[in-house]
Amino acid sequence: MKYKIKCPKCGRASPSILAFKCSCGSPFETHLHFRFEKKKIRKRNHSLWRYANCFPYVREKELMSLGEGWTPLIKFSDGLYFKLDQLNPTGSFKDRGSTVLISALHKAVKKAGGYVSEDSSGNAGASIAAYAARAGLNAKVYVPKNVSGPKFNQIKFYGVEVVKVSGGRNKVAEEAQKPEKRKFYVGHILHPLFRDGIRSLAYEITEQLGWHVPEHIYLPVSAGTLLLGVINGFEHLVESNVIEAVPKIVACQTRQVSPLYHRFKNLSYTPPERLTSIADALVSVNPPLLGLMVKHLREANGDAVMVEEDEIFNAFIELARKGFFVEPSSAVAYAAYKQQLKNKEASKYDKTVIILTGMGLKTMLKPR
Ligand SMILES: [Zn+2]
Repeated sequence: MKYKIKCPKCGRASPSILAFKCSCGSPFETHLHFRFEKKKIRKRNHSLWRYANCFPYVREKELMSLGEGWTPLIKFSDGLYFKLDQLNPTGSFKDRGSTVLISALHKAVKKAGGYVSEDSSGNAGASIAAYAARAGLNAKVYVPKNVSGPKFNQIKFYGVEVVKVSGGRNKVAEEAQKPEKRKFYVGHILHPLFRDGIRSLAYEITEQLGWHVPEHIYLPVSAGTLLLGVINGFEHLVESNVIEAVPKIVACQTRQVSPLYHRFKNLSYTPPERLTSIADALVSVNPPLLGLMVKHLREANGDAVMVEEDEIFNAFIELARKGFFVEPSSAVAYAAYKQQLKNKEASKYDKTVIILTGMGLKTMLKPR
């Protein structure tokens, strides 16, 4: 077998590709038992699927693509590069997870006469909705009551059912997971194959830099799918002897939503009663994967940074005024980079990649 999906806690194997968590309650993880081989890359495929052989649980004829991945990596200044993942088909990096997840299981769900359910603060909901639409699969997307207008509209236009839930982010997840007849929960945070699709980002960055890794990678962190997927991808490249070491991954969070930053630095964290940050895609104050995130970030010798609201706003405006219109949540990573430059914890000459995760048209901010 080229891969195994199993429980990180008790070791039990996943009973089906549709299962998202173990009977012991822990979410499953994917383990790869094959090497990354450059010669197996489909060089003429300019999407994530150029690495199709790295996703062995997806059958070729069941592949559902909207042209995601293989996004440009461009040099911004001195050593700084941007990975333009906001240019994915639904406007966020989540499409990497959705194409892999939906490709892997749409047939099984249809065979059972079922539909998929997902909970999201917006971007993942839009992404799952688009790929479900592509696959002709029915979907129900649960969102917080205050979901941003453009994201809500986008999800609706894909033609799926949208359920608004009041209460915190965890309440939304609870509703989406509530068992109903023929409902298959494919929540992007818990389902191991969604996270597994994010691995492609590490392959792309490395290939685009001529099979070299940068010194630092900055990325925003909320529920942890981006962080865990990227670390996993680089670890796979190390195990396959393609690169020597995982680059220093810097997990970037907002002051309001910073459970990983605090746990990583052994500080205590109390979330605010109400989230008011302009980085409205980062909402996981109590992420179910927090333990896994701390473990993997430590093992990978990474770091965590927290930024303030004014730093996020300034970074968002600065990026826009240089032509990069991204969500304020994406600007969090650039804000963190700037903070570390200022504190001399980073150098502008070090080769650094910032992952721009979501497109600016999704923001509710109005120009002043
Ligand atoms: Zn278990």
